[in-house]
Amino acid sequence: MQKIALSLGGALLVSACVTAASTAPALAEPAAVSSAAAQETRMEPGLRRGRLAQGGISFWQTEPGSEVYIDKKPVQVDRDGHFVLGFERDFQGSAQLLVVFPDGEEYRRLVPVEEREFKISRIDGLPDNKYTDEELDQIRKETAMKAEARSQRAKTSYWRAGFDWPVRGRISSKYGNQRILNGVPKRFHSGTDIAAPTGTPVYAPSTGKITLAQSDFYFEGGLILIDHGQEVESAMMHLSKVLVKPGQIVSKGEVIGAVGSTGRSTGPHLHWTINWKGKPMDAELLLPPMVPLSQ
Ligand SMILES: [Zn+2]
Repeated sequence: MQKIALSLGGALLVSACVTAASTAPALAEPAAVSSAAAQETRMEPGLRRGRLAQGGISFWQTEPGSEVYIDKKPVQVDRDGHFVLGFERDFQGSAQLLVVFPDGEEYRRLVPVEEREFKISRIDGLPDNKYTDEELDQIRKETAMKAEARSQRAKTSYWRAGFDWPVRGRISSKYGNQRILNGVPKRFHSGTDIAAPTGTPVYAPSTGKITLAQSDFYFEGGLILIDHGQEVESAMMHLSKVLVKPGQIVSKGEVIGAVGSTGRSTGPHLHWTINWKGKPMDAELLLPPMVPLSQ
C-alpha cells in the first residue's frame, strides 16, 4: 500500500508572526494527491469547518471506520467518519495527521498551524489576589466537581448541529488575551466575553448534554458545562440564571440560562469557552463575525 505524505507547512514555518485579521484562513484543501490506483470509495480526511490556527478548533471527516491520530495521540472518530482537531494557543509549527483506513492503508499529512498575535497587557503595582482558607477549600471542592462532570464523555457527535453565538453583544474581551501582573504572566483568557445586560437569555451554542449546572461557583459564578461530544465542551460562566440540569440534552438555540455577573466578574457578560480535550479554543475563529443586536 502506498503512503501519501504531503508537506504543506514549510513556508509557514519560516514566516513571521501574522495577525489573524490580515490573513486569509489557512484552510487545508483535501489532498490533491491521489494514488494512481485511487479507490472510488476512499474518503481522504477533509476539513469541513474551522481554522487551522493557534486556538483553532476544526471539524473533519474521513472514511468511516478509520483511526485518526494527531501528533501520535488518538482522536475519536464517529461512525460517519467525523472527527475534531484543536490547536492550543501556543502551538508552534505543524502537526502530523495520521489516518489509518479500515483496510490498513495509512494516510499522513502535515497540518500547518497559522500563528496569531494575542494582546498582552502589563499591569504593575496591583495587589495580587490572596485567598482565605475558606475560599481555597471552596475552589478545591469546585475543581473536583468539574473533574467529576468531565469524567464521562459523550461519544455522540452532538456538535454536528453546528455552532451559533449564545448571546449577541459587544465582545468585551477576546480569547488569548494575557495580563502580566507585577511581572508575572497570568493564565491567558480562556474564552470570549460578550457584554450584555443581566437577564439576557443565553442559548445553547450547539447541541449537547449538560454535565454541570451550578449557580454559585467561586470563579465562574453561575456555570453550565455542555458536552458536545468527541471531547468538545462549552463552558458558560457568570450566569444570573441556570435553567438546565445535569443529564439533560439541550438543542442548539435552546435557552439554558441568563447573562449575569456572578463569580469573579466586573460587570454583566457571558464568558464562553469552547474546550477540546480540556484545552481552551477560540470560539471567534469558528463563528461568523458577531453582529450585536441594536439596542
Ligand atoms: Zn472571560
